[in-house]
Amino acid sequence: MKVTDHIKNANGKTQFSFEILPPLKGEHLQSIFDNIDPLMEFNPPFIDVTYHREEYIYKELENGLLKKKIVKKRPGTVGICAAIQNKYQVDAIPHILCGGFTTEDTENFLIDLDFLGIQNVMALRGDPVKSETYFKPDKEGHAYASDLVNQIQELNLGNYLDDELLNTSKTDFCIGVAAYPEKHAEAPSLDSDIYFLKKKIKKGANYIVTQMFFDNQKYFDFVKKCRNEGITIPIIPGLKPIATKKQLNLIPHRFKVDLPDELIHEVLNCKNNEQVRQVGVEWCVNQSKELKKAGIPVLHYYSMGRSDNIRSIASQIF
Ligand code: FAD
Repeated sequence: MKVTDHIKNANGKTQFSFEILPPLKGEHLQSIFDNIDPLMEFNPPFIDVTYHREEYIYKELENGLLKKKIVKKRPGTVGICAAIQNKYQVDAIPHILCGGFTTEDTENFLIDLDFLGIQNVMALRGDPVKSETYFKPDKEGHAYASDLVNQIQELNLGNYLDDELLNTSKTDFCIGVAAYPEKHAEAPSLDSDIYFLKKKIKKGANYIVTQMFFDNQKYFDFVKKCRNEGITIPIIPGLKPIATKKQLNLIPHRFKVDLPDELIHEVLNCKNNEQVRQVGVEWCVNQSKELKKAGIPVLHYYSMGRSDNIRSIASQIF
């Protein structure tokens, strides 16, 4: 079922969903199930599976020259989605990127999803690869998520890249896109970012999932601004419980979000990461309670591959 239908059918009840990462190459699929199993009692209508593009690794040769090697450390997004749908009878949502994809790769990826009965897809640009400062699309790929949304929407209309194909079958994807309550790192202003968010919606996006935030007011202000700009589709908040002291620096650096002083002080007062995990759970429970009270349709949790803290939060909220 489509995410938008899950929201409609819930009749205003707040639902629980979460995101998982594919395991590192070499690890077994069971590691994913071990993370999902404890969360199934909270009846997630859908589970997101991230996509991880290739990375460049440089190996030094005996003659001192460097050899570039391209590796995908976390392959398997589509296979995991199929496995989740098959095992749990829950909608799995693969993330798909502009980065590393030609438009032909994108079309073939979408055809696989359609054949597997996957009805939702999260369309993202992706970040620059580690060796680059700015995002560089594939020569025959998309530069922005709005272009990717456009291609998905074209396939929904039965328009394939090869316009000589006749009597084509139409896909019916529900399309999710990302948004940033604290602004995307590269956007010159929040207004500019929302301007391009509107473009993704105009091209066919059906719902939004936000970047993580630790201060609900930022989410409420963002939603208000979007609604004032005429954005009417669901804006699902993304939530992440802080789990280690290191994340105090890592999260702002990597995701360009601020942490409230009160949370920082509580984390700094912890003696070990077990205590930090507890602080992170409590903070996230309080965020979740307030969002639920505000009638938000879905609370979406970033599990980052470990579900014990998400379980602890969900058991207090759902
Ligand atoms: P876009 O919407 O294309 O926006 C990128 C930037 O370009 C923004 O600053 C925007 O304002 C600007 N912009 C947009 N259109 C134009 C235009 N036409 N002209 C000029 N500027 C423009 N990354 C992964 O690699 N894998 C994942 O699975 C993944 N999942 C994610 C899930 C969520 C919910 C979120 C919030 C992020 C996720 N990301 C993931 C990270 C995401 O790929 C990065 O944040 C990326 O830098 C931006 O992606 P986007 O889809 O928001 O890009």
